[in-house]
Amino acid sequence: MRILITGGAGFIGSHLCERFLKEGHSVTAIDNLLTGRLSNIDPLFKNPRFTFIKQDVTNFIHVPGKVDAILHFASPASPVDYAKYPIPTLKVGALGTHKALGLAKEKGAIFMLASTSEVYGDPDVSPQPESYWGRVNPIGPRGVYDEAKRFAEAMTMAYHRYHGLQVRIVRIFNTFGERMRTEDGRAVPNFIMQSLQGKPITIYGDGSQTRSLCYVSDLVEGLARLLKSKINSPVNIGNPDEMTIKEIAETIKRLTGSKSKIVYKPLPVDDPKQRRPDITLAQKKLGWNPRVSAQDGLKRTIAYFRSLL
Ligand code: UDP
Repeated sequence: MRILITGGAGFIGSHLCERFLKEGHSVTAIDNLLTGRLSNIDPLFKNPRFTFIKQDVTNFIHVPGKVDAILHFASPASPVDYAKYPIPTLKVGALGTHKALGLAKEKGAIFMLASTSEVYGDPDVSPQPESYWGRVNPIGPRGVYDEAKRFAEAMTMAYHRYHGLQVRIVRIFNTFGERMRTEDGRAVPNFIMQSLQGKPITIYGDGSQTRSLCYVSDLVEGLARLLKSKINSPVNIGNPDEMTIKEIAETIKRLTGSKSKIVYKPLPVDDPKQRRPDITLAQKKLGWNPRVSAQDGLKRTIAYFRSLL
């Protein structure tokens, strides 16, 4: 297959490029390098089956030749990034999704949308099944990401229903691993960098809010299986092992052997209190289960961040 990956130079996008090249496919990455980086895909340029196009996918996308699958992974994804780039975040989720869907229709390609657990907002149901409609503040600071992804899901389903396009929608829950940016601002990179540099570890709020951490190789395996499936409706992919932010901070502090102090900072507006995927659908329909524990994934991620210092 020839697979086109928007956001291909990003954290998850670059892992997808690598995975599909390894499977023998041709891969074209498209990225405007707003939060993606060429260093993530540097080693892939020597592969003759890999090509890169530097482009903002909110503009018309022209790609000559056949394309069998389009994976739309372009978007700022960290709350710090989408607060910094609110309008590009809305545009890539809305206009970018429309352009990528248009290209998929033109090429007769399967379309996969990287959606997010953020479509559930600050949920009053836990764990969150795909059938839950969510509790999102459209006008809060996270609304730029949440509503763009909700719109993207609606647009994707419309292309499926109206144009008969084959679509896959993955709702990704807190994924971490190598190639996250050190300055990305999310809990895992922050805590690791702070621990390694002996700086205070910043917990927002009292640290009782929960997240469930999925290591990137598990996510990529789930995505590869979803792509091959026939499921046109959303599927949660994440690790249901729920931890408080305080536990995550303490685990990272212990694994790095850090002497950093833990300090408490104000909780950002609309920060979800709990997040845990219900993965029954992925287990049953894709035969998928996460394999890497948070602890093992964190060890590998810490080694990566250490190598950057
Ligand atoms: N968080 C924190 N300290 C940090 C960064 C994040 O306590 O330095 C908290 C944040 O408020 C949230 C959780 O960790 O409750 C996860 O935040 P992250 O930015 O990783 O992603 P989110 O799951 O909120 O999209």
